[in-house]
Formats: sequence, C-alpha cells, structure tokens
Amino acid sequence: MPVSRYMELCLTHPEHGYYIARDPLGREGDFITAPEVSQMFGELLGLWAASVWKAMGTPDAVRLIELGPGRGTLMMDALRAIRVLPPFYLACHVHLVEINTRLRDKQRATLVGVKNVHWHDSIDEVPEGPSIILANEFFDVLPVHQMVRKETGWHERVVEINAAGRLAFGTAAEPTPRFEVLLPPLVRAAPVGAVFEWRPPLEIMKIARRTREFGGAALIVDYGHTRSDAGDTFQAIARHTFADPLKSPGLCDVTAHVDFQALAQAAEDIGARVHGPVEQGAFLRRLGIETRAVTLMSKANAQVSEEVASGLKRLTEGGRSGMGSLFKVLGVSHPSITELAGLTDNPAPTEPSIAARTNVG
Ligand code: SAH
Repeated sequence: MPVSRYMELCLTHPEHGYYIARDPLGREGDFITAPEVSQMFGELLGLWAASVWKAMGTPDAVRLIELGPGRGTLMMDALRAIRVLPPFYLACHVHLVEINTRLRDKQRATLVGVKNVHWHDSIDEVPEGPSIILANEFFDVLPVHQMVRKETGWHERVVEINAAGRLAFGTAAEPTPRFEVLLPPLVRAAPVGAVFEWRPPLEIMKIARRTREFGGAALIVDYGHTRSDAGDTFQAIARHTFADPLKSPGLCDVTAHVDFQALAQAAEDIGARVHGPVEQGAFLRRLGIETRAVTLMSKANAQVSEEVASGLKRLTEGGRSGMGSLFKVLGVSHPSITELAGLTDNPAPTEPSIAARTNVG
C-alpha cells in the first residue's frame, strides 16, 4: 500500500489507529506540544484571535474553531486571554474538531464551565459563519504521499511485506505518469534516489474556502519547511524519541513535516490571503511572549518562575531542543484582512492582564 494509506491506517484505523482512543500527550506520553509546555502559548494565540476579531469588524458571533485540540489546553488558555475582552468572549462559539474519544473527554473536562462548546469529526460539520481557526500540530498527522525518483521517473513509495514476512519500504513497479509536471522548482532536478513528499491539500482548501466565504482567519502552527523541497521526513515518535515507523503500526505517532509553501499555494489558489510563514520564535516574540513571561515570573514563586523561563526558551529558541525555528506559523485570511498580528512587522498587541493558570508547566 502507498505510504499515505499506511500512515492513514496507523493513525485513524477505527480499531487500531493511534489517534482513536489514546492520549499521546505530555511528559508521560509520547510527545509534548507547545500548549503543554507553557500556558503562554495558548494565551498569545487567544490575543492573536482577539486582534483578528477586531480586524473582522467585531462581529456579534464568531466560530472559534480548533483542529486537533489535544487535551483542550490551548483552547483553555486562549479563552482565559479572550475573557479580558468581554464582547469578544461573548461572541465566541467554540468548535472542536476531534476524532479521538479519549481526548474529547479530556477536552470536556478541561473546558468545563465554558458555554457554547461543540465537537465535530470534521471541519465540514462546523456551521457556516465568520470563523477564527487554530491548528497546532494538526497538519503533521495528515497522511503524506512519498514519491521516489528513479531512472524511469517518479514512483510512489509503498509499504510491503518482504521475504522475511516483515513490513518494508518498496516502490510501485510503474512510475506515476507525468508526475514531473506537479513538482515544485527545487525538486525538478532531484537526483535518482531522492524522495519528495506531498500531502493532499483537502484540509487547507476547506480552511481557505471558509475564511474566504464567511470572513475571518486561520493560524497554522507546525514543524516543517517554508519551501517545498525533496527529503524524507516520515517519522515515528514514541516516548519522546524517534522510532521505526514500520515497527509498531498503531502504537506510535507517525508524522511527516509540513510543506508550508504547498499549504500557502493551495490557500492562495482558493482565493484566500496568505500571511507568512514565519518561525514560531519570531511569531511569539512579536506577540509579546517575553513581556508575558516577565509578568508571570513577577507573581510566581521560584519553581514556577523557573518553569516559565524554561517554557519561554523551549517555545522560542532554535536548535535541537527548541521549537522556535523548526516550527513555522502560517496565516490564512479573508482577502480584506491585509495584516495579521505576529505575521507582519507590526507592533505586537498590548498585553491585557490575564490571571495566571495555576498549573504553568
Ligand atoms: N493541538 C494539540 C494536539 C496535537 S496532536 C496540541 O497542540 O497539544 C494531534 C491532534 O489531532 C490530536 O488531538 C488528535 O486526536 C487529533 N487528530 C488526529 N487526526 C485527526 C483527524 N483526522 N481529524 C481530527 N483530529 C485529528
């Protein structure tokens, strides 16, 4: 089967899929995400949403949609920031797109007390209307196709059973006809053996269409590259380290980097406006993460202060352990919104006073 089908089954097979009934997040789980690192991440995304709501002309009702909301942490932190602006808070209808029943239960528990929360299996089910959409580490779990360059052309990479009865990578016997015409410029001269990944653009097209038709904007944060290029990024992660993606199907997270140039292109083709991408570190700094950290630290004891400082580093710094440069942020909006906070060189929105979350880490 193509790598994309394998990835799809590993993640979303109704019985054995990794994302069907497991909570993979946190220090005890397989990986940790930005909102789980620090409350500042969700809070700043909440402020970002508030600035979008203003740019939209402060509509009375807006759909605040999150794709793949994990434990609900990002939304909880965002709403804490949004509460500082009561007319926006009152305008928000929260829509969570989540296929994982276990995580839905966690989200329900995290967001207890918040009115107007709805769950959906797909963004297609979210009712029409002006929308602000957040997606952190959602796109990397959507299946990718891998194509391998051979003398005979570009062949689909497949997962097959080898002579020893084990799963192994192979390639389709025949090349995919005329695949070259779809290649981005950097990949056209790729040597034999090169791998090119592409993700069907269905989800980004839905996001772009929604913002173009009903107004609003989307923020996509994920690990990936800003220019489409060759490279094999198909990977498995279990217990915070890389694993063999063919070893334990359904038991570890399988992902591939996000091609932000491809996302931007697909959104523009639909007629939405694209902003960025920029690196996560620069984005969060422009939104004022350093000021927010100082505010939190001034009110905290030594241990919490230390957690805020290490969270700031982890979210903004580059290098192997930081998320600051590996992660990119892309904005997609209605064409009438010409600037989005953090994605242009605007001054950051001013920080309102938000009560601290007790669990900072
Ligand atoms: N955004 C969260 C979680 C990232 S993990 C955070 O930053 O912590 C990926 C999330 O997407 C999980 O909530 C997972 O259950 C969900 N998910 C995976 N595949 C999905 C799909 N096809 N449709 C909707 N949600 C999906």
